[in-house]
Parts: sequence; C-alpha cells; structure tokens
Amino acid sequence: MTVEFQVQGVRVSELARRYGTPLFVYDGTVLRDRFHGLRDRLHPAMEIFYSLKANPNISICALLHSFGARAEVSSLVELTTALRAGVPPQQVIFLGPGKSRQELAACLDTGIHAVVCESIPEVALVDELARERGVRAQVALRVNPRFAVKRSGLAMGGKPRQFGIDEEELFGQTDLVKRFPDVDVMGVQVYMGTRILHEAVIVENTTRILDLAERLAAALHLELRMVDVGGGLGVSYFDGESDLDAQVLTDGLNPVIEDFTARHPGTRLIMELGRYLTAEAGTYVMGVRYTKTSMGERFAVADGGTHHHMAAVGIGSFVKRNFPMAVLNRLDELPTEEWNVTGPLCTPGDTIGKKVPLPPVRPGDLIGVHRSGAYGPTASPGLFLSHGYPAEVLVHEGRCHLVRERDSPDDLLQRQRLYDPTAHDAADVPH
Ligand SMILES: *Cc1c(COP(=O)(O)O)cnc(C)c1O
Repeated sequence: MTVEFQVQGVRVSELARRYGTPLFVYDGTVLRDRFHGLRDRLHPAMEIFYSLKANPNISICALLHSFGARAEVSSLVELTTALRAGVPPQQVIFLGPGKSRQELAACLDTGIHAVVCESIPEVALVDELARERGVRAQVALRVNPRFAVKRSGLAMGGKPRQFGIDEEELFGQTDLVKRFPDVDVMGVQVYMGTRILHEAVIVENTTRILDLAERLAAALHLELRMVDVGGGLGVSYFDGESDLDAQVLTDGLNPVIEDFTARHPGTRLIMELGRYLTAEAGTYVMGVRYTKTSMGERFAVADGGTHHHMAAVGIGSFVKRNFPMAVLNRLDELPTEEWNVTGPLCTPGDTIGKKVPLPPVRPGDLIGVHRSGAYGPTASPGLFLSHGYPAEVLVHEGRCHLVRERDSPDDLLQRQRLYDPTAHDAADVPH
C-alpha cells in the first residue's frame, strides 16, 4: 500500500484532483498549534500580532485572529484585509518606511491602535492629517537602534537603514511632543531582524529593546503606553538548523516581561510574528510534468517554481539550500536517487530543489515543499512568464476551503489594454 501525505485526513491526490496543481495547502491545526504553543507559554502581558507580510491571505489572518492573534500591517490592502478578517481596529498597528498620505489617513479614519512612524517627516505628516480631522493621532516611533543582533538571517540594527529613526537622533528630539500637538507619541517599536533561531538572542533583543524604550520615554517625556519588541522568530528550513523551543524561549522571556510590567503596568507589550506563525502550516504541491536526464543528472520538470516560491529557490542567498521536500503521493518509498526539481519558467534560476534525495520520480507524481506557509506567492515574482498565482486551500476541522482562486488568463490580461492605432489618450502631446 502506498502512503500518501494527508492534511487532516484529506489525501494530497484528492486535493490535487479537486483543485489542480500547483497549489498551496494550509493545515489549520498546525497553524493553531503553532500559535498556542507560544501563546499558552508566553507571559499574558505580551500580545502576539500577526505580520500579514508573511502570508496576507484573508482566511489565514481570520483563522489566526480566531485563536487570539492581532494584526500588524504595512499597506492599505493589508489594513483592509485585517479589518475584513474581523480584527478590531484597536488590535491593529501599521508599520512601514514609505506610507502614503492615503494610508496614514486610513489609519486615522479607522482608529487603529498605532501608526508606527519611521521618520520625523512622517510624524509631521501624521500631525497635519490629525489636525485636518480634529483627532489625536496615536503614534509609536520605530527606532533604528545603535546595537545589532548577532546570528539573525537579516540583521536590522546598528546600520544605516531606511527603517526607523536612529537612536542617537531620537534622543536629541526632546521637544518632539511639543512640536507635534496633534500627535500622541505613546510608544516605541524596534525590529531587530528575521529568521532568528537562538532563544537567547531573542531574549537579549527583548531585554535591550525594553530598556531602550524606557530610556527614550524618560528622555522625551513620553507616557509609554506601547512597546513593540519586534520578533524575528525563525523556523528551521535547512540541514543543520533546528526549531526554536517555545518553552526555553518563554522561560527566558517571561521574567524580563514580568520585570517590565511591574514597572509599567499600563503599557501594552507587542510582539509581531510572521514566518513563525505560518511557515510550518503550508505545503507547496507541484505536479511533475516530465522527467529527463541531462549530462548524467535527473530532472523532474514540475508545474510550479520560482514564480510561487522564491524563498525555496534560494534567491538572495549565496548557496542554494533545499527546503524540506518529498514525493507526497509515495511517502513510503526510500529516497534512493538525486533529483533536480525545476519549474516551467525559461530561466535556469527556476530550480526549486537541487540534487534532492527522492525516490524514483515519475510524471504525475506530486512533489511537495514543506514549511511553505510564509513568504510564498506574494513574495515571489508571480507574474513572471504570466503564469499567475496558484490556488490556495485551507484545511480546517477536516473541511477543505478554497481561500484563493488560481489566476486565469482573463484575470491576468484584464488590466492590459490593446492599443488602438486610430485613437489616443487625451493627455498626449499634440503633433
Ligand atoms: C517582515 C517584518 C516582520 C515579520 O517578520 P518575520 O520574520 O516573518 O516574523 C515583522 N516586523 C517587521 C517590521 C517586518 O519588517
């Protein structure tokens, strides 16, 4: 008997038959366990905000919210998504280095908890928009700290960045509160980096950020009502990596949080997590179209690739490392061969797995990339070669829900215009 990958009892071949491939499948139970694994251990004063950037699907956001997550958004569409997913405005914060006037206005009009400002000119614009509306804007300041985090996939602090306001500069802004009368500067945010897999590093970051927030509040005479300590909690993808231990992490974090809340009982504490909450719950399922050999190497040419899963392709890293992969419809067969798993794009970069140990692959097989629930299609060049976005399916409580329809050719073409040689736009230069 062949053993198949299943999501809550639904066989992968059934999912592929029903929805076609390539396909992202999310397991609602894994999502819940991931959230609760941390939530149930973490100090209750620390709120978990879901960073929609990692996976902005409205159903993923709604499901995480039903478990207790709040939302951290960085665009007008992410804000709209979170609100439509049912997250109350007071549980939403908006962050990002280049917010538009329209986005800032939407923050004020919807009454979200905080706009996290990343520059002094942005604070000035928020002040102006608040005055126009006759409201007081709730603002937190994103700080680019002097210190940097070690052992992170992408370190943020201690470097020139477009994100946040330099620590040194902020400490000199002692008249900030007076200068912007319609802004209520009430919080501090710091994000140290992503893909951190060492519990002690996260504890150290959090400790330093809370300390920085306290010192900054004292220097600028702020009433500290919110501190967002970022997060950057990683998940393991590659050989030699291991997952964070939620127990070890919270054993380290909770005393630090307790210490802080004892001094600042009214301050909302926020941790913003993307990858950590969603990566594990997602599987990217590709159908194998052709198999062949080239100069002694085996190739499985699949219907999915770079355009949906740039992270697995390894763009941006020096050495391509393989995500965990398997032939999902024959899990019981031993990986006796090495296969290059490639996609339909006309570029050698469209290689999802290099020399992956797999059982003999045949056309029609379903190859899966595990831990693919974060930074998938929306972080990939989905329009390259005009293949468009794949379908996304959420399996929750044993039921399948199509949560994103596959793009059709009409979807992809509808915003293009075939030019008409006998007409032109009114704004054209006359000749
Ligand atoms: C990207 C980002 C996140 C989410 O990062 P993960 O590593 O996916 O948890 C959180 N906060 C900020 C400011 C970000 O830029």
